[in-house]
Amino acid sequence: MKLVDALSLKFKLYILLALIISGVLLTSMIGYFNMHKMKNNLDALYFGSYIPVSELSKIQNAYNKDISLAFYQLKSSQLNPAIAAAKIDLSRHKIASLWKSYKSHFKRDYELSYLEYADEEVQVSIAYLKKLSAAISSSSHENLMKLSSATLLNKVNKMNSVIDNILQYENDIAQYERKMLILTYDETLYKLLAVLIFVIAAAVIIMVPIFKSIQNSEYSLIYASKKLQAANKKLETASITDALTELFNRRYFNLVYNRELTRCIRDKKPLCFMMLDIDYFKGYNDAYGHLQGDASLKAVATIMKQTLKRPSDYLFRLGGEEFGVLISDISEEKAYHMAQKLRENILALKIQHKGNKANAYLSISIGLVNLYPNQATESEPILQKADENLYKAKAAGRNCVISSDMQGPIKPINNISA
Ligand code: GH3
Ligand code: MG
Ligand code: MG
Repeated sequence: MKLVDALSLKFKLYILLALIISGVLLTSMIGYFNMHKMKNNLDALYFGSYIPVSELSKIQNAYNKDISLAFYQLKSSQLNPAIAAAKIDLSRHKIASLWKSYKSHFKRDYELSYLEYADEEVQVSIAYLKKLSAAISSSSHENLMKLSSATLLNKVNKMNSVIDNILQYENDIAQYERKMLILTYDETLYKLLAVLIFVIAAAVIIMVPIFKSIQNSEYSLIYASKKLQAANKKLETASITDALTELFNRRYFNLVYNRELTRCIRDKKPLCFMMLDIDYFKGYNDAYGHLQGDASLKAVATIMKQTLKRPSDYLFRLGGEEFGVLISDISEEKAYHMAQKLRENILALKIQHKGNKANAYLSISIGLVNLYPNQATESEPILQKADENLYKAKAAGRNCVISSDMQGPIKPINNISA
């Protein structure tokens, strides 16, 4: 089993194929040779026994029925001599021709001596019958009456006994041939059964490890494909995620924006976009170091995630210390309220920021844009509009929200400090 396990799947399949082909060939060969043997047995039974026996029986009939009856009818004056002689002649010819045919069949060497003896006896009886018919046709009525029934009976009995012996012998041969036929038949069955058992057993022995190999390959394939799927998923997520904050990246913004815009137009729902920017962040980096700056970026991202939790709220890091928020199905007032909440929550972190002229703590400014369902707008204009609003928020003293819709007038500045 270990040796079979060690072979490659391809090699195992070749062995299985070779086994099946050799099994089929062996079965066909056994079938062919044994069928041939059985055909010979049947031939021997038919031509070697059945036909000879039927010829011998006809010869016996000719003696026992035709000749004996004709002689009896002659003696009892039921037949005239010419007809009786003709009938005996006819039977004699029949016997001669049947005997000739019988002799022509295949004979084994050990049959020849008895056949020679029987042939002599048949020839003697034929010569006697010839003389008998000649005597019948040429004799007077008184002489006919003197013809001995006993002599004919003797001759007939003699032939009966000779032919009986041959018949007995032919019967023995027929029995032997039948036995051989059945033996060959049984032998064929056993051989075919043995080949079948061997092929099935060998196939099972080879197929078990083949199935195992296939199953193992299938498991490895499923495992590899799951790993690949997971890796793909990771790659896909990585391609749309910002590594530092784990928010979506700028690249993903366009795709989400177009999708959400289509959905809002279809559902006749408003859409809002916010652009966030940390105030005086350059100063923060300068004062506390770049690493601390990164930590603050993460802290801002965490507050964004905690404040905007709906599955339809999309949060982005657009680049540097700039963030984006896309919210669908939200009214102008609510959007503004959410922006203020976000700004307040970040301020509530109380991250010391001594360079911030707007507040003692780290703060953000927000530019907000509202979009209505009938406004099919590309992503660039909305980004631009949000950026404009953000710029205005910065100009207005930072740590505040500036909101507008895409076309409408800019709303008053809402500068709320926490
Ligand atoms: P404003 O209030 O007008 O936005 O001023 P600001 O200093 O925030 O703006 P500015 O655009 O001048 O500076 C942005 C700074 O953000 C510059 C850079 O040092 C910092 N920054 C950008 N990306 C990163 C980052 O990944 N990590 C850290 N620590 N700082 C970053
Ligand atoms: Mg900036
Ligand atoms: Mg800034």
